[in-house]
Amino acid sequence: MARLAILSTFAVTKNESPKLGTVIGIDLGTTYSCVGVYKNGHIEIIANDQGNRITPSWVAFTDGERLIGEAAKNQAAANAERTVFDVKRLIGRKFDDEVVQKDMKLFPYNIVNKDGKPYIKVEKDGESKVFSPEETSAMVLTKMKETAEAYLGKKIKDAVVTVPAYFNDAQRQATKDAGVIAGLNVVRIINEPTAAAIAYGLDKKREDKNILVFDLGGGTFDVSVLAMDNGVFEVLATNGDTHLGGEDFDQRLMDYFIKLINKKHGKDISKDNRALGKLRKECERAKRALSNQHQVRVHIESLFDGVDFSEPLSRARFEEMNSDLFKKTMAPVKKALKDAGLEKNQIDEIVLVGGSTRIPKVQQLLKDFFDGKEPSKGVNPDEAVAHGAAIQGSILSGEGGDETKGMYTFIYTYIHMQYVLCSMLCFLMFCFLSNYILLLDVAPLTLGVETIGGVMTKIIPRNTVIPTKKTQIFSTSRNQQTSVLIKVYEGERSLTKDCRELGEFELSGIVPAPREVPQIEVSFEVDVNGILHVQAQDKASKKFEKITITNDKGRLSEEEIDRMVAEAEEFAAEDKAVKERIESRNSLEHYVYNMKNQMNDQDKLAQQLKSSEKEKIETALKEALEWMDDNQSAEKEDYDEMLKEVQDVCDRVVAKVYFRAAANAEPDEAEAKANDHEED
Ligand code: AMP
Repeated sequence: MARLAILSTFAVTKNESPKLGTVIGIDLGTTYSCVGVYKNGHIEIIANDQGNRITPSWVAFTDGERLIGEAAKNQAAANAERTVFDVKRLIGRKFDDEVVQKDMKLFPYNIVNKDGKPYIKVEKDGESKVFSPEETSAMVLTKMKETAEAYLGKKIKDAVVTVPAYFNDAQRQATKDAGVIAGLNVVRIINEPTAAAIAYGLDKKREDKNILVFDLGGGTFDVSVLAMDNGVFEVLATNGDTHLGGEDFDQRLMDYFIKLINKKHGKDISKDNRALGKLRKECERAKRALSNQHQVRVHIESLFDGVDFSEPLSRARFEEMNSDLFKKTMAPVKKALKDAGLEKNQIDEIVLVGGSTRIPKVQQLLKDFFDGKEPSKGVNPDEAVAHGAAIQGSILSGEGGDETKGMYTFIYTYIHMQYVLCSMLCFLMFCFLSNYILLLDVAPLTLGVETIGGVMTKIIPRNTVIPTKKTQIFSTSRNQQTSVLIKVYEGERSLTKDCRELGEFELSGIVPAPREVPQIEVSFEVDVNGILHVQAQDKASKKFEKITITNDKGRLSEEEIDRMVAEAEEFAAEDKAVKERIESRNSLEHYVYNMKNQMNDQDKLAQQLKSSEKEKIETALKEALEWMDDNQSAEKEDYDEMLKEVQDVCDRVVAKVYFRAAANAEPDEAEAKANDHEED
């Protein structure tokens, strides 16, 4: 018996990844995303086509084109209503969710209620189109996937994707769905702070340590307390604020300048999306600069009505206007420490994650709180999460270097050992000997069911290490009751009305009996991705029902996902067509200007041309340029054809020049050839 148990345990460990290809790690951030992969024995953070290692999580629609990343962000000021950002704030939420309602007021793009979910509405090619947050996030994921593919030179299917620790079930599910739409197999969803801890873990020695991960990004703030013990990480507690980050600091700056502009120029730009877009971009730039310098000038040409705006901004002023927000980061730190049962002096390492941790005042507050302890900053804070996700990906795929492969050899060497205990010891020894990181995570919120009087009866307490399974026995509240309604909630309050309902299902066929006699076993299982499966079984009749929190909680239906996958493919085809069209136009333009340069009198070719020949070429080039001016958005085929036409004219003339040159050596033959060519 014991041996069988061992075999099956190890089968699970090994079988988790047999069919996976290279698994990339994607940090799908609120404001920026980042992708990494294990290659040549280490993690590479991959630069996008613009050479940047982080890509704005922005998508924009123009007539005839869809833009993602920098291209979308850069044109935001001129196309504010069709430029979509911060979609992570919407994903997996209901339309009437407080956060959605609040954010809607700040977004320059439109959000509409479709089946109770927030959809993004944009005008594209004269038509009104709506996109779900999953679809929009999928566009960003596609960009990250393509970035990895361009670097690796092969197709990528598998990815580990990170989410904030506070993401609930619906948000995690929706993120997975976004992956499906992007054509990705999301092999694991992991918490961002956990990924960051993994990124640091590899560089550290294996003495026991308590680590506090302070992750202040663009849109979310997460604090996690982790214990590292012999290379094994355990998340002890998480806390944070899903709505605090760099964008809030930008907004404070925006509010300040909007008021100032009103005062100085008597102009209210708060409804002018174009001006707001420009101001937002400049505010972010100024904020970043103030992390390194004490003074910056905010300068925007033609901000409104042709007025140029230019104002100095000091670091002190910036800190003053954000001081309450910066201080706000300390409360979750205290709470997480309390939940972890640790005093601040028991924290051995403070890890900074997220671009906003570069702000000196934020670092100072944290340092002061920890009585002068310096945070470690070994890994670039913008990249730490993707770095950790890529490590996790490499472990899952088995590509994570010789150490990970060594794990399996080690396991199989011991597979014949007789006792479970021995094997467990071997596994722990292996964890110690290799760099394999056993990833433990926690359920961020308490999960439970509703019982009489609307009471929230807790089944999985918050901060329970996952994956986990917990079972509890319930009964009926009335005599001869044959069915019960199981309502599942998440939240910390004692009444379900103050918690969030995740779903419900009915268990019928209960053997009739006096109240409180039937035994109904309810089990909650949270899988490695933090996704909840609930089952209820009547012990007498053995009847059972189960639920995985899905569609009714705002998740996309399978048909919707299929439709979106098809649409994403259509978009990809459209993108390809646009790209090809632009390439063809560029080829034509390049050829024409290159030839034009050669018509310069100093050029060798121009010197060899007769004036009639030169005129012939110049006319063809002029006509081609005029045609391009008149046909700004011609089809690829038209550009190709025009290129061929102009090339034909030029090639014939150039050929004559060469023949003439050759004629100096072989006058008769060359002259004949030149004449043949003339007749062609
Ligand atoms: P992340 O999502 O972790 O990439 O963080 C993005 C946020 O960090 C954005 O709000 C950026 O404006 C902000 N950020 C990036 N670099 C800096 C910097 N040097 N100083 C202040 N904030 C920054």
